[in-house]
Amino acid sequence: MTDIKPSPASRPADPMAQPTAPDPGLPFDRLPLPAAMLETLRQLDYRTMTPIQAASLPLALAAHDLIAQAKTGSGKTAAFALPLLARLDVRKLAVQALVLCPTRELADQVTQEIRRLARFEANIKVLALCGGTPMRPQRDSLAHGAHVVVGTPGRIMDHLERGSLALEAVDTLVLDEADRMLDMGFHDDIAFVAGRCPTARQTLLFSATFPDGIARLAARFLRTPQEVKLPEQHAASKIRQRFYEVEHPARLQAVARLLRHYRPASTLAFCNTRQQCRDLVELLRSEGIAALALNGEMEQRERDQVLIQFANRSCPVLVATDVAARGLDIAQLEAVINVDVTPDPEIHVHRIGRTGRGEDAGWALSLCSSADKRRVAAIAQMLGFEPEWHALDELVADEAQPLQAPMVTLLILGGRKDKIRPADVLGALTGEAGFTREQVGKITVTDQTTYVAVERAIAHEAVRRLAAGKLKGRKVKVRALEV
Ligand code: ADP
Ligand code: MG
Repeated sequence: MTDIKPSPASRPADPMAQPTAPDPGLPFDRLPLPAAMLETLRQLDYRTMTPIQAASLPLALAAHDLIAQAKTGSGKTAAFALPLLARLDVRKLAVQALVLCPTRELADQVTQEIRRLARFEANIKVLALCGGTPMRPQRDSLAHGAHVVVGTPGRIMDHLERGSLALEAVDTLVLDEADRMLDMGFHDDIAFVAGRCPTARQTLLFSATFPDGIARLAARFLRTPQEVKLPEQHAASKIRQRFYEVEHPARLQAVARLLRHYRPASTLAFCNTRQQCRDLVELLRSEGIAALALNGEMEQRERDQVLIQFANRSCPVLVATDVAARGLDIAQLEAVINVDVTPDPEIHVHRIGRTGRGEDAGWALSLCSSADKRRVAAIAQMLGFEPEWHALDELVADEAQPLQAPMVTLLILGGRKDKIRPADVLGALTGEAGFTREQVGKITVTDQTTYVAVERAIAHEAVRRLAAGKLKGRKVKVRALEV
């Protein structure tokens, strides 16, 4: 068992040490990877391995089964994608690697990352098979052949039952976000799918947390696995934690005060229940703070839409439960707010680790009732810090100021199926319609729909001009999404 704990306590005391300096990390060329693959990594600007990659790649490349645990955003995808790509025989057009993910969204992220990493070889086919889209096109794609399949357990099962997917040639089976798959009740589906893969295969299990179920899953499907665990470590200097004592009935109101005071451009607020999520969104809106909720029961399309609005800066506050927010790769969160301190220190660390990721520092603001102060003590003890308590009275309450996003998302009915590309939308806005490039933000094209963020001030006019003009030679329906 490889248990790597780069905890500050185990590091030799070095008075010259710069605690804020980034860890240089090891270069990829230490690994037995093909030269072309190393070149692709250079092109992607993957200079050094992340800690989970450095710990797991040598083992996975040596064909060991693996249980790897590391937080969201730590680079787990490449940690399994590189070994499975390195083993692949492109001349053999059969599914040689299967990656199971809990949701379509995560499967799409993984598919994109594998495709990027697979650029070193022109003909590697990576196919995503998820629910929520018709079976037929997926069956057709499978009939044309694929080397790597990424999918959700339910849909993979459907294909197996209908005989459109064969797994006899699978060398590598990956269970990504295994904890979340168990949460979602996929245990039996995973068992079914694993049972259809050859027993002589490599199985790689990745998980952000390590509940009991994971050990049982591993015992069933992995063979003498190596374990790699990277207990969460945040650059303490980057995440500024503050705790506020507030009694239960007042805490939703307190969230509004925090937002008004800190005015973060993007905030993820964690609630413990779905009902609390709904209540909080309602309260924030009534206070002039734009917010959207994300919950596990949403339809995929709704969920995608919320995430797109949050990522393209059209919505400053996203309210979610832990389950709903798990695994999302949201860059540039300026603040995380814990509406309640969770009793589980590991979850707390996981939540706040979503801010302070890039160059900028992030706020982790936690509300806590006097009865729950013990929880903070437990967290502080586990992480080895002195909690910084602040009073709500310190917060400037400028009631008059609404908190609005700088951008508004326009929804265009028409997408990939209509051959619409981001460049077409940008062209339509900056061409005839006469807006500048700077006024247009992120453009996301999905199968049926296109989302484009534009500056709030021009939103109304942009809708009018887009609707008056043409996109790919035809009229389109456009409307602004209100948050
Ligand atoms: P996880 O699965 O652990 O949540 P991901 O695999 O999604 O994390 O990686 C998070 C981000 O980091 C992705 O945008 C990915 O492209 C990037 N990334 C991964 N490994 C490296 C690396 N070695 N160097 C630079 N960027 C990396
Ligand atoms: Mg991942």
